[in-house]
Amino acid sequence: MSAPQPDTWVYPTKAGLYVAPADCYIDPPRAVDRAIITHGHSDHARPGHAHVLATPETLAIMRLRLGDQAGISQQASSYGVPIRVGEVTVTLVPAGHVLGSAQIVLDWQGSRVVVSGDYKRRPDSTCALFEPIPCDCFITEATFGLPVFRHPPDGHEIARLLHSLSLFPERVHLIGAYSLGKCQRLLALLRREGYEAPVYLHGALLQMTELYRTLGVELGPTAPVAGMARDALAGQIVIAPPSALNDLWSRRMPDPLIGMASGWMRVKQRAKARGVELPLVISDHADWDELVRTIDEVQAPEIWVTHGNEEALVRQASLLGRRARALSLVGYEDDEA
Ligand SMILES: [Zn+2]
Ligand SMILES: [Zn+2]
Repeated sequence: MSAPQPDTWVYPTKAGLYVAPADCYIDPPRAVDRAIITHGHSDHARPGHAHVLATPETLAIMRLRLGDQAGISQQASSYGVPIRVGEVTVTLVPAGHVLGSAQIVLDWQGSRVVVSGDYKRRPDSTCALFEPIPCDCFITEATFGLPVFRHPPDGHEIARLLHSLSLFPERVHLIGAYSLGKCQRLLALLRREGYEAPVYLHGALLQMTELYRTLGVELGPTAPVAGMARDALAGQIVIAPPSALNDLWSRRMPDPLIGMASGWMRVKQRAKARGVELPLVISDHADWDELVRTIDEVQAPEIWVTHGNEEALVRQASLLGRRARALSLVGYEDDEA
């Protein structure tokens, strides 16, 4: 008997991407009975599922963000350990996106489908490195699925931040960064480049950063902004969620120089619209080259492209000789990552 075609047992439904022989959904946008969650970003880890399967780190992140809505029952699955869900063998493998992020490897009757979730390929000391898994069908994100998106080396972007700090030592450098993943990666990158001073954090970033530490990630000294004298922040780095960059809170800072760390900072209009003076192109998503390289490495004859810029990546995968199609799943946003 030949292995079943991927689209006969994994397919999109109104409630999300469904794995029929496991009777479960992956990152469903609405509450379901049984969910497998790739990572803790809010558009992937929704509240209210009855049963949630994820890595221990993702479950901890969900409990912090969602409280008692994080799943009535939670099942932890560590990287690389196969477990049985219905008739399907499910293995979570690092996706390199944020702490705990996983690709979902699904094996059923000799057919293997891998759901990437969000991912990136470059090393990040705050999470495990992406592992390419050969499969029959690879379901990939495409947030930056256009050839114009080529992220520079992250050390280059950090050097620009440190250079600005030396040019404007009297200005507070207020950097917008998403609270899960980007904030902590920014801290780790600053340490890697030799910046040792405390980094000041907006209140909305404190708990997640503390959770990263509890889970064993080294981030160096940080302190809350709250309670600091205004003048003491001159020449310091402050990290805040992107939503706080232009509000009242930021106007209390001494002559703030606004920066933001996001793959979208490649798009000049986006930086401008947010009043960003120092756009830092640091992304937790694969850029175009990483997407294409990954499609090549997993050797899957079939490529399904989910949220983002599907069209160009579908065409590129076809040029590489793969059967490719856009899944057009709804409910996922560009998460400022
Ligand atoms: Zn994400
Ligand atoms: Zn996403």
